[in-house]
Order: sequence, then structure tokens, then C-alpha cells
Amino acid sequence: MRAAPVQLGTALVAVRAAASAVLHVGDPQAFPKGAAGPATVADLAGQVAATLVLHERCGLQVRLAAEESWDEVVRCGGAGLMVHVARAVRATGLACDEATCERILRAGRDEGGTGAFWALDPLDGTKGYLRGGQFAVALALIIGGTPALGVLAAPRLGLQGTAPGAGVLFAAMHGEGAWQSPLVLTSIAEDAAHPAASDVSSDEQVPLHCAAWSPGMPIRVAGSVEAAHSDASGIEAALARVGSVQHVRMDSQVKYGLVARGGADVYARRSPSAGYAECIWDHAAGALIAQEAGCMVSDLHGRPLCFHQGRRLSTNMGVLCCPPLLHREALRACAATLG
Ligand code: AMP
Ligand code: MG
Repeated sequence: MRAAPVQLGTALVAVRAAASAVLHVGDPQAFPKGAAGPATVADLAGQVAATLVLHERCGLQVRLAAEESWDEVVRCGGAGLMVHVARAVRATGLACDEATCERILRAGRDEGGTGAFWALDPLDGTKGYLRGGQFAVALALIIGGTPALGVLAAPRLGLQGTAPGAGVLFAAMHGEGAWQSPLVLTSIAEDAAHPAASDVSSDEQVPLHCAAWSPGMPIRVAGSVEAAHSDASGIEAALARVGSVQHVRMDSQVKYGLVARGGADVYARRSPSAGYAECIWDHAAGALIAQEAGCMVSDLHGRPLCFHQGRRLSTNMGVLCCPPLLHREALRACAATLG
């Protein structure tokens, strides 16, 4: 289940390329994808940029389970936006035209499951992005049902605490810890073409450690802004049985990064939609980063997140991510209150 350093370099460049493409989109034109929420030119540009890097470095046959797909874009009326998508991708320095966008968006439909494959969310937290809140680009390499490496870019987050800032890159390799660094968005086209190139010098990388929570301390609970995505207030009420709750509402997988660096104590999530199964790209990178920073990550019944079921975590219910001591207490409180 180990990833190679060259694969980490590839992921760092792909995520930076996607973040750069997202930030080069001028007007974030959105189109609805039904229950899956909105997609925008930025979601598509991020996916095209990251996939171009994966193809450049790993070959066209690389397995990729990505959120956006050409068929869905066409079905939802987004195909006419390709001129804007290609423009944003070219602004990163990567070569791209409208036909390339279509070819690339046809290539991310891997069904996941067993073996080794990449999982990509090119713009996690689209509603946050449109609202001026947090969002993330998330890429993980999953091997044998377990995330082996994960990279998250949070272009609007600061380097400490929960405050906005100039951007952070979080990363982790299974068994080798997690770290963060400033998000640097230069030299993407050159890095994409050089398999050894990664991104930041090691002196900019700060190792991540989750908070040392102990009983009696307040519990800083990170949850969704969007009530349709998670019953954040129900979870906060459950955790109030364990200690006094301070809530941090933030969009996207950035919540895993917050907990990983001790800026929050818990990230917990429970969909209000009956039968909803979480998407693998919404959790693979963030969960590994938090785990490598010392957290326990499970679903709300304490089961490990199961990344070999396909594109969704279909045997899990919700997510609970926090330091081990708090995890035990939080599981008990959630079982008693949420069922
Ligand atoms: P957040 O920013 O934490 O609210 O989470 C954003 C993610 O919520 C998106 O990437 C969607 O995949 C996911 N999502 C969309 N609809 C639902 C739903 N009904 N229940 C749970 N998550 C959802
Ligand atoms: Mg997402």
C-alpha cells in the first residue's frame, strides 16, 4: 500500500495545476447537477488541469475516479462552457483546447474498487467557492482500498488556525506523516514535464500533529456550512455530552486539514439525506492527512472508511475524525444521540 516518492511529486504538481486553473477562472459560471449540487467552469478546469498532469507523468492509461464527467456535463448543459475551461487551463501554462477538455473529461470515469487508482475532487466545496468561503482541490492515490498518499490544496486558507489566507498545501504519505506548506502556484508547466520535480523545498514543510485533547477541554467541532450536506447542529448536540462545544463551520475537505494541524479537535459529518453514501474523493486525501497527523478516522459507527467499494463509501455512515481519546468518547456520544 506504499506510494512512491515520484507519485507524491506527481500529485503535488497535479493539485497545484488544478488550483491554478480554478483561480484563473474569471466568471465562475455554474450549472446544476441535480442532487450532486452545482458544478462550475472552475470544477471542470481543475479536473482538466490535474488530469493533464497525471496523463503527462503516468500515461493515458492511468486509472482515475474523478468527480466530473463529460456525459454529465453534456446532460446538464455545460458542454458550451469548454471555451472558458480551456482558457483557464491554458493560463496555468499547460497546453489545452476545447477538444482536449472533452477528451480529458471522458477519461475520469474509473469505477474505483480494488487495485491502484487516483481519486480526484477538482473543486471540493463548490458552494463555498461560489460564496467566497473555503474550497479545496483533493487528490489521493488509493491502493488496495486504502489511501496511500493524499494532497489537498486550500487556496483561501491561512497557514495557522481557521482564518482565511494566501493558501495552504496539505500532504501525507501512508506511514510517513503529514505536512503543510504555503501553496505556490508558479512553474506548473515545467514541473509537469519533469517527472522528478515536485514542489516545495523541505524547509517550507511543517509536520502536522493533531491537538492533544483531554477530558475537560472544550471541543472545537468542524462541520459543514451547508445544512443539506451534514447535520452539523445534531453532531454538535451529541458532542456536547462530552464537553463544551465550539463550532467551526467551513466548506470542503479543508476541515480534515484543520483537525490535522490542531486548529480544530473534530471533523464529524452525517448526511441528512437518507441512504446518502459519501464520495471517495470527498474523503480519501483528507482522511489520510488527518490520520498521519495522529487522528483516528472512521465512520459514525466506528468502522474504518472503506475505499474499495467503488466511487462511494457505500458501507459507511458519516465520518468521525479526531484524536484517539476524543474518538472513543465521541463515538459513544454519537451512538447515544444520533443512533
Ligand atoms: P461540505 O463542504 O463539507 O459541505 O461538503 C461538500 C461535499 O458535500 C460535496 O463535495 C458533495 O459531494 C457533498 N454532498 C452533496 N450532497 C450531499 C448530501 N446530500 N449529503 C452529504 N454530502 C453531500
Ligand atoms: Mg466534493
